Amino acid sequence: MGLEFGLELPLGGEETVYDVAIIGGGPAGTTAAIYTARANLKTVVIDKGLTAGALGITSKIANYPGIPEEISGAELLLRMRRQAEQFGAQFIQDKIQGCELQRDPKVLYGNNGTYLARTVIIATGSMGRGNRVPGEDRLLGRGVSYCATCDAAFFRDQEVVVAGNNDEAIEEALFLTRFVRRVHFLSPTPDLKAPAELAEELLHHPKVTFYPGAVLKEIVGEERVEGVRFRQRGQPEQTLSVSGAFIYLQGGQPITDFLQGQLPLSETGCLIVDREFQTAIPGVFAVGDVLCNHVKQAVVAAAEGAVAAMAVEKLLRGREKLAVDWSK
Ligand SMILES: Cc1cc2nc3c(=O)[nH]c(=O)nc-3n(C[C@H](O)[C@H](O)[C@H](O)COP(=O)(O)OP(=O)(O)OC[C@H]3O[C@@H](n4cnc5c(N)ncnc54)[C@H](O)[C@@H]3O)c2cc1C
Repeated sequence: MGLEFGLELPLGGEETVYDVAIIGGGPAGTTAAIYTARANLKTVVIDKGLTAGALGITSKIANYPGIPEEISGAELLLRMRRQAEQFGAQFIQDKIQGCELQRDPKVLYGNNGTYLARTVIIATGSMGRGNRVPGEDRLLGRGVSYCATCDAAFFRDQEVVVAGNNDEAIEEALFLTRFVRRVHFLSPTPDLKAPAELAEELLHHPKVTFYPGAVLKEIVGEERVEGVRFRQRGQPEQTLSVSGAFIYLQGGQPITDFLQGQLPLSETGCLIVDREFQTAIPGVFAVGDVLCNHVKQAVVAAAEGAVAAMAVEKLLRGREKLAVDWSK
């Protein structure tokens, strides 16, 4: 059971208002969820993909306290998520594309739904891309997309490219196969970084052509996407004629694009927080690798999630108001 606030919903619907919505289900976000759910706060974690984050792609981890054996990062994350679920946290697979953080409740816009919450914890990590490939920005919305679930129907019976290698990219590609004639899947690595079952489903799909070790070089087209240039390891550059390019590549930048300038960033693109990980907007917190001022380790990200979760609880339950005012 969550806290009762008697809220007026801004969207006029019967949507659930969560006490806390956590964007990102890596160690930072999932630990925060363990603490907020255990504190009886109605908690949702919205995550775009198990292997879309830093821990999710780690093949072996051996230095996480309490886990002496070598396990994969994805397995460690699943254990953390199960723990959070046991306390009542809800996990939803979705990608947050936009938000309105000044509203009450705060509004998060995902590919598959809209989420309302009294408080928000941003835990999206730092696997975002810095540089775009030539043509990507110019043709965005004209064949370039980051959301197959939103745009697949526009490409009915056409050929498209999907660039990426994690579970987010694979699931989006599989969704596209319901609409398009062919998906050309360009993986920057020789192998897919995703659970074996999901990878197999993609590799054996009759509408998918797989290009391992393929680096996307350019998206070409005048008014709309007409093709892509790419190079596979040890091979000459190739061109494919396609009308859509769906891009799920990763890099090393904090993921803050969905904030659309609502929060100040440091010169290096990092979110700025106080001692309790609260940002400039009350009720909005940020933890983990999306901040740059910490050691990038799972246990550190998890610890920050715990601190922020306790600050959220204090904020929501109004404990600060109950504190003795010594100035009187
Ligand atoms: C190759 C590699 C090896 C590593 N090895 C170790 C190690 O051995 N030990 C160790 O302690 N640390 C290790 N680390 C570091 C550790 O993985 C990170 O410090 C830690 O995962 C950071 O946690 P996080 O929750 O902040 O971010 P992440 O783990 O990156 O999680 C972020 C989550 O946010 C989600 N997300 C992002 N954007 C959105 C969006 N718009 N909407 C919804 N969801 C979104 C992603 O799907 C992801 O699940 C390693 C990192 C890498 C890359």
